[in-house]
Amino acid sequence: MMSVQSPNDTYISLGEKLRRVNLQALGLAVGLLALVITLASLVISALALESNTRVMTRVLADNAAASLMFLDKEAAARVLATLEHLPDVRGAAIFDTQLAEFVRYGRFLAEGEGRQKPSLSSEHAQFRLDTLHMTQPIVENGNVIGVLDLDLDLQPLYTQVFAHTSIVAAAALLALWLATGMLRRLNGVVLRPLTTLSALMERVAHTEDYGARAEPSRIIELDSLAIGFNRMLGQIAERDARLAAHRDHLEDEVATRTEELLRAKEAAEAASQAKSDFLATMSHEIRTPMNGVLGMTELLLDSNLNHEQRHFAEAVENSGRHLLGIINDILDFSKIESGQLELESVEFELGELLEGTLAMFAQPAEKKGLELVADLPPEARRCVLGDPFRLRQIVGNLINNAVKFTERGEIVVRARLLGEGAEDCRLRISVEDTGIGIPPHAQQKIFDQFSQLDGSTTRQFGGTGLGLAICRRLVGLMGGEIGVDSQPGKGARFHFDLRLPSGHSTPEALRCDVALDHVRTLVVDDNATNREILLRQLQGWGMHVECAADGAGALGLLARTTAAGEGFDLAVLDMHMPHMDGLQLASSIRANPALAGVRLVVLTSSYSSASVRERERAGILRCVHKPIRQAELHEVICSALRGPRDTGGDARTPTAAPIALAGRVLLAEDNPVNQQVGEAMLAKLGLAVQFAANGEEAVRLAQAEAFDLILMDCHMPVMDGYEASAAIRAGVRAHRVPIIALTANVMEGNRERCLAAGMDDFLGKPYSLGQLHAVLRRWMGAVADTAPADDKPPAAAAAQAADEEAAIARGFLEQFRELDPTGGLALAERIVGVYLDSCGKTFAQIEEAAAAGDGEGLRRAAHSLKSSSGNVGAKPLYALLRELEGLGRDGDIEAARARLDDLRRAFARACAELRALRAEIGP
Ligand code: ADP
Repeated sequence: MMSVQSPNDTYISLGEKLRRVNLQALGLAVGLLALVITLASLVISALALESNTRVMTRVLADNAAASLMFLDKEAAARVLATLEHLPDVRGAAIFDTQLAEFVRYGRFLAEGEGRQKPSLSSEHAQFRLDTLHMTQPIVENGNVIGVLDLDLDLQPLYTQVFAHTSIVAAAALLALWLATGMLRRLNGVVLRPLTTLSALMERVAHTEDYGARAEPSRIIELDSLAIGFNRMLGQIAERDARLAAHRDHLEDEVATRTEELLRAKEAAEAASQAKSDFLATMSHEIRTPMNGVLGMTELLLDSNLNHEQRHFAEAVENSGRHLLGIINDILDFSKIESGQLELESVEFELGELLEGTLAMFAQPAEKKGLELVADLPPEARRCVLGDPFRLRQIVGNLINNAVKFTERGEIVVRARLLGEGAEDCRLRISVEDTGIGIPPHAQQKIFDQFSQLDGSTTRQFGGTGLGLAICRRLVGLMGGEIGVDSQPGKGARFHFDLRLPSGHSTPEALRCDVALDHVRTLVVDDNATNREILLRQLQGWGMHVECAADGAGALGLLARTTAAGEGFDLAVLDMHMPHMDGLQLASSIRANPALAGVRLVVLTSSYSSASVRERERAGILRCVHKPIRQAELHEVICSALRGPRDTGGDARTPTAAPIALAGRVLLAEDNPVNQQVGEAMLAKLGLAVQFAANGEEAVRLAQAEAFDLILMDCHMPVMDGYEASAAIRAGVRAHRVPIIALTANVMEGNRERCLAAGMDDFLGKPYSLGQLHAVLRRWMGAVADTAPADDKPPAAAAAQAADEEAAIARGFLEQFRELDPTGGLALAERIVGVYLDSCGKTFAQIEEAAAAGDGEGLRRAAHSLKSSSGNVGAKPLYALLRELEGLGRDGDIEAARARLDDLRRAFARACAELRALRAEIGP
């Protein structure tokens, strides 16, 4: 029998329970019966005993009557002696009417031993615990003459009752035993079907065989239980069948849904791929002509330019970089969104990075009359590990916005050291402006993508609404959080905290061959922030500094100190001040012979109106360009204190470093203008160049001739760069020539694709001379280990330069003149010639593709002509070709045909103008 133990209670089987219940009931019934029988036997025996004893006492009383009458004690004693045949009689006595004892027999209790006086009036019987006492009056002739008392021992009665009880008990036990056996059998009859049913339940529970059925037991209750169980099994089986059917259906449904999901996923992937392709194409399309623009500008900037020329060339470069900035923003955002952006960890100097970033905005800030200030205490000027490019991007974005949204006042970039550990440091970087500010409700929203305050600001200031969203994500990737404090109308302060690992080196110490200690210096600046920062900085170098807020104050101070015999050694003057500007102040100082010993340095923007001659006339020794860089300020002050007057030249005039590489390079590039840029750059690096216009030609040349390196454009007609590289690698030349991929597609994965095709390295377009040099040096080795100056900031949110409308002719030619090693226009003439020679064929391809309705052909031809037209400055033609390229891509041939007339006119005009130009500049 199964029994289940629980911690608190003991469960027993139904059979056991029934047995116990039956036993208790039977035991009780039989016990009661036995008790009743025993009691009845006792009572009946006692009554019989009394009745028999009464008869005996009567007989004795009758026999003793005569002897009492005659007072014959002997006769009376003889009568009583007959009692000896009755062993149960303990004793007897006869009393006279005076109740005096006449005669006695046996042991008879005396009156004092608990017996009462006998009564003469009636028969009387009294049961005591162990005796029956009988009183019998003795009557003679109707008169009571005495009384007989008799004590009967009750022991025999008890013995008899005990014997009787024992028999009854034995009988009861027998009955109980028999009944228990019978009940067990009967229980078995009832319990067996129940056990069978329970076993069936257990089996079903284990085997889940819902087809099993309980047998009838011919016990109504059990049968109804079995019927209920069978019905339940039936229902379960039915439900199972339904479930199975549903499951089959569900499986079908899941399969269908999975298929749909798979299709949706493929569609989403295709869409994402399309987006990536689109971005790659767009990046390529913009970067290819940008290569020409930026490459030429860089070469131009690397040549000897006067201040104004440098200014203009920098403006061109800034605009180009701004354009690149926009495309980079879009690419960055999509890269961050798809989780593809990975941060670099390289060592850089934070102070330099922040100053360099601020300097990128010098021109737009100057245009709006804004003061750009870097507040970088010495402890924040440290070498750290991180991603300088992305940090510059964040800070650049914030400064760009600050310049955009500030009409007057200042923009301050601050860095503060919040804490320093053994291996890292915590820094807070902020960009503050005094611009329009941001209302509280919008202060979180502006960090969402494509979020701008309102349409009117967008119209007024432009922008995509992506800048801050990118900043927030980049700061997040660096483990920080960006925030803003602002009050409308009072400016904004964007800030973020970063924890950066400390770098291994320390920033280069500023060196000066003149002692700066105790040099008495006057700082004159109307901008209080600038004054304060200059004060701190100069005092940090040990100088003794006093400040004045304007020209009048400065002259007063100079006069007072000179009179007191404590004249200044140096005056640092801000060029732009109200009432009296730096130039006028300098002239006034120079006009006073008492102040002849004061050396003058001005703080000016690069775009300052004062010419070198004017500055020289005013006795200004050197200029420090705003925003002030610490190293430049230090160098200028040292040089001003050193002695002989400087020519007033530019503190940061770059000189092209001698560059020497040796060897022969195969340049596989289809775009003629980019060929010219590449050739000019390679020539500048001291390398001989051979061109290949497509992949096939590159393969042929690489197999026929020996080259030290191959620069391979990835996208070329006939055979692209990947195929060509694979073919060259499959060739049997003993010398493995390094192949460097040139591509405007900077999307993730392209580098891997280049390497997989057998190329060795990768150079993104547009590339700078420095970048080209770095790659070439890596693969070719230099003759002299000197590098070109390449300190241009990478593409970032660049300053918005004035986009001066350049006509085809002069500006364009000037750049090529500078690039030409002879300094003449031969290179420009050659480029225009190449363009005029090749453009007709490409234009015919456009016409043919439009006539044939070939969208892809149209796109290709328009793209090719577009990029070279842009590079020779044919702007209207460029715009039309770009439009046509888009229409070709969309397959909108009708719209393209509708634009053909305009295109023909623009093309004819551009060609005519270029031909005239060639005639003009030709030999
Ligand atoms: P946008 O390209 O439009 O500048 P951002 O994401 O950089 O995109 O900025 C989003 C919006 O936040 C801006 O359009 C402007 O309304 C607001 N904003 C950003 N910086 C400033 C600032 N320094 N002062 C005032 N408003 C700002």
